[in-house]
Amino acid sequence: MSKIRFLAALWAAKLSVPALKITRHNGTNFPGELALKICPDFLKHIGKPERIIAVTGTNGKTTVSNLVCDVLEKNGVKVLNNRAGSNIASGVATSLISGAGIFGRAKRHTAVFEVDERSSLKIYPFVKPKYVLITNLFRDSIMRNAHPAYIADILTQAIPRDAKLVLNADDLISAGVAPENERIYFGIDKMPTDVTECINLINDMRICPKCSAPLKYEYLRYHHIGKAYCPSCGFRSPEYDYWASGVDTKGLAMTFHGPDGECGYDLLSDSIFNVYNQVAAVALLRCLGYSHEQIKAGLTAIVASRYSAAHEGEIELIMHMAKEKNALACSRAFDYVSHRPGRKELFLMMNCLGDVKHWSENTCWLYDCDFEFLNDPEIAQIVCTGARALDYRFRLLLAGVPEDKIVCDGDEFSATQLLDYTPGDSIYMFYGTDSLALAYRVRDKIAQTARERSGKNEA
Ligand SMILES: [Zn+2]
Repeated sequence: MSKIRFLAALWAAKLSVPALKITRHNGTNFPGELALKICPDFLKHIGKPERIIAVTGTNGKTTVSNLVCDVLEKNGVKVLNNRAGSNIASGVATSLISGAGIFGRAKRHTAVFEVDERSSLKIYPFVKPKYVLITNLFRDSIMRNAHPAYIADILTQAIPRDAKLVLNADDLISAGVAPENERIYFGIDKMPTDVTECINLINDMRICPKCSAPLKYEYLRYHHIGKAYCPSCGFRSPEYDYWASGVDTKGLAMTFHGPDGECGYDLLSDSIFNVYNQVAAVALLRCLGYSHEQIKAGLTAIVASRYSAAHEGEIELIMHMAKEKNALACSRAFDYVSHRPGRKELFLMMNCLGDVKHWSENTCWLYDCDFEFLNDPEIAQIVCTGARALDYRFRLLLAGVPEDKIVCDGDEFSATQLLDYTPGDSIYMFYGTDSLALAYRVRDKIAQTARERSGKNEA
């Protein structure tokens, strides 16, 4: 009976793909959703590739899975992946359906799946990964994720005992996941910009996981990321198996070390966050047996879906995604921008759309996020817009930003007229995942105004 139900689910899902194309619907999630509705244990029955690599963690999982896929494909491996779809159970199911024959047998040997942390309990019991890479665990949307230790517990419960883990030694929250499993650690060695006391509002790893005494840091990069030790019981961050040293974000270079020597790499990005993503991907690929030459041939670019820059008139216009309700991703974006050279004008339009009234989470994350990075002499002006414009203004004032730098207009389009458009400035537009379509329209309006003003300057 269950076999019949499985086949019915598989065929209905497979038939839905051309139907979705005809009706011009995006079929990245629906076939899996349909299959799981018809056959709740669909993931148990569908054929799975022999080698499954799962990539999970709060930030960077899309980037890391894309990098790993790029290198595998460049080296001739046909990889099943959920790049185009979602990272929850239905997204993984959709991908498995596309990679299975009409009787449900897997056609591919290797899969790379980006997996949402909370969905792992629904996925890993059936789709058993050989490797699980965890990028990091940070505080995320409180309503969805509660606390990172809660997410770490979910992963410990869900990850199969025989999966090999690839973990971030600089993040003690994810480094402690599934302690019984075989594991290797990656990290980034001490950098000149590191500190020893946390300067961020959030540090979710303040006490020793063994004896609860306050932890000390040999070096601390941001939040709880760094090398920690406990002066009371001798607990220490794990040693690196694979690590980067000499990270040069200006010259875009690093040295990658492993058990069998070192090798120079070009950096794909100048943000430390992406250096971690690159180091994580290289560590996993070295584990899989690829040579540095093979890895470098496939590591060509980080697809910058969340960052784009263009010259418009006499300014540079940069779109930077700052995931709303994820204080940490937003803090990283603010930190990064405050260290970019030159005079800046900022346009804050995080969670503009879908901003439900009386939903307290829409403001509480503002007080976990380091708006203090925006109190910088090079930041000449900050335009606040959208439903939360006044909340941003209040938060900026608390961060010590001078009042005369802050201007507000709740309407995103008329707010574009408040920017200075001073020739030579960079305009940074921060937007959230909820308001993509609106963000692109507002971006076009800023670009158009910048070009008009530049015409006037020439005249
Ligand atoms: Zn201790």
